[in-house]
Parts: sequence; C-alpha cells; structure tokens
Amino acid sequence: MTQSKPDSQHSVCAPRRQTRQISVGGVTMGGDAPVRVQSMTTTRTGDAEATIQQIKELATAGAEFVRITVNDQAAADALPRILYESGTPLVADIHYDHKLALAALAAGIAKLRINPGNIGAKDHVREVAAAAADKGVPIRIGVNRGSLHKRYDTLLALDPAGALVQSATDEIETLAAVGFHDVAVSLKSSDPGEVVDACRRFAKISDIPQHLGVTEAGTLLAGTSLSVAAMSVLLSEGIGDTVRISLADDPVKEVNAAFHMLSALGLRSGYARVVACPTCGRVEVDVVALAAKVEELAKDLPSDRVISVMGCIVNGPGEAKAADLGIAAGRTKVAIYRKGELHRKIDKEDLERVLLEEMERLR
Ligand code: SF4
Repeated sequence: MTQSKPDSQHSVCAPRRQTRQISVGGVTMGGDAPVRVQSMTTTRTGDAEATIQQIKELATAGAEFVRITVNDQAAADALPRILYESGTPLVADIHYDHKLALAALAAGIAKLRINPGNIGAKDHVREVAAAAADKGVPIRIGVNRGSLHKRYDTLLALDPAGALVQSATDEIETLAAVGFHDVAVSLKSSDPGEVVDACRRFAKISDIPQHLGVTEAGTLLAGTSLSVAAMSVLLSEGIGDTVRISLADDPVKEVNAAFHMLSALGLRSGYARVVACPTCGRVEVDVVALAAKVEELAKDLPSDRVISVMGCIVNGPGEAKAADLGIAAGRTKVAIYRKGELHRKIDKEDLERVLLEEMERLR
C-alpha cells in the first residue's frame, strides 16, 4: 500500500496511509486529503432551528462534516430545511429503519452512517445502496462494540478487536454484494486499546478510509484524554482519515479538542498556541484566568502565532523568546515581550487593556 507524507514539516507521524478517497458533499476524505474533523449535533433533529444553529456553531469551530441523527419522521421532515440552511456537508446517522435512510438520500444528505447489520433484510440494504449509488453518496459502516450483532458474541469474548474487524468486513461484503463500494469504516469501542488494535488490524487488510473515534469516551477531561491516547497512536502510524473526539459536553469542544490534537501531531494547523505555566508558589498573577482569556482571544488569530503567559519572571524571558507575544508577571509590574525582546513594563492594573491591544496587533 502506498503512503503519503504528513501535512506538516514538524509532524512526528509516519507517512499517512494512502487510502481510497471518497467525497462527502464535495469535501474529500482519505487519499491525500488532510485528516478531517467531524462532530455530531446533540439537538433533536426535528427541531430544525436548534439543529441548524448548532451545525453553524460546529462549522465555525472548524468541523468539516457534521453528523445528525435521523431517528424519526420528524427528523426526516426537518432535513430539507436543515440541508438548505446549514451549508456544511451533513452525515445522516441511521439505525433500524431503511426508510429513513431513503428519506435522507432523497433530501440530499452528503453521507450516510449506517450499520447494515441493523438495517434488516437484504433487499432493504440493496435498496439503500442503490439509492446512495444513484446520488453518489458514500456510506460509513459504523461498527460499535456496544451494538455488535449477537452472532459476534463468542468472538467478542475471545478477541474484541477481532470481532469489530470481522463485523466491518461482513458489512463491507454485504454492500459489495449489491455492487456498492463507496464506503468508509469506523471501528469503535469505549476501550482505547481495543480501538487501536481494531483499527490497526483493519488497516492491514483494507484501503477503505477510516473514521477514528473512542465511543462514549466520557466528559471533557476523561473523554479527551482517552480519545487522544488512542488516536495519537493510530495517527502517528499514518492510520485515520477523519476523527471525532466524542464528549459528554458541548460538541464545539469536540472540534476544538480534535484540532488541538491534530495540530500537536503536526497533521493540521489548529489554533494559535498559548503557552501557559502551570503556576507554583512564586506566581504573581492569576495565570489560570489570564491564560483562559488569552486562549479565547487567540481563537481568531492565525494558527502560527504563539503567546506565552508566565506567572513570574523565572521562565518569562526564556519562553518569550519563542513567542510572538510574551507576558511575565512581576510583583508590581508585568513585562511584555514581542518576539523575545522586552517591549515594555506595565502596571498590573493595565494588563487587560494592554493585552487586548497586543493581541489585536497579532492579527
Ligand atoms: S513561571 Fe514562575 S510561577 Fe510559573 S511555574 Fe514557573 S516559576 Fe512558577
């Protein structure tokens, strides 16, 4: 299998696997496309207004595909308006009811996420595949440990990752049997080790693009940590074409976390980098609040900008050397550095005003 170089000169990752490329509403996935970031709405899809609003928030944060559940007739009825107003490639998440998949395709969805195993009879799968092929819409086979068919129970007990791969392979064959090959795959578990094992094994036997994720990963801190642990291993080996960091939190945070991860790995440019000291007994300013404020202001800055926030003068000058803007607090004054040079010292009470001015200059 051929491989392509990572997107960044600074990437610590092996060359990315050259998977077969698919198009999701005109946005490429796999092949030489960058690792795409996706997320999923948490609104009731039938509430078109709330769903459109959240899709726009996710797109503004950088999500390149947004998945929405199409779980009932109200959701299917809302789809035309959502598709018309959202302006982002949308993926319809379908379980059990193939008629909802057909409705999503008729409405103009960019991609389906189904599990053919729970769509039911072969002729239902055939019907969905034919309609998807007709519209040029790819299908993601979303294998989830939590919803594996009973027939994998024995294998699951012996070899969980093997069961995920076997299920994906069977689903791929089900679609291939009706002539459908425009597919992506995800192999998810809430156990990061199983995800790594399954995705590695699948990558050895197929060039189908992979969407990575640790499912039901948890709340912001735990969920991000588990997801990044599994995905960093895979991405560093060149495996993975899209990512979702699943969090029990605002999905915009999923997108933010995904870009931080991809940027740290040198695979995508993310946000301007905010270096902040962890604080210690020497601290002279509220670094936690200051760094949070700087991070918020930095979201709109070009991604190559670096801002350092140091709680005292010990490491301030050193960190400031590598930063476009450095802030180091002293007992009564705060030192402001520009590209490593001491620019000025200001009174602490002027920090907020000066910070806004200096950040504006970095645009
Ligand atoms: S920069 Fe100063 S306050 Fe921050 S951790 Fe280092 S010594 Fe402590």
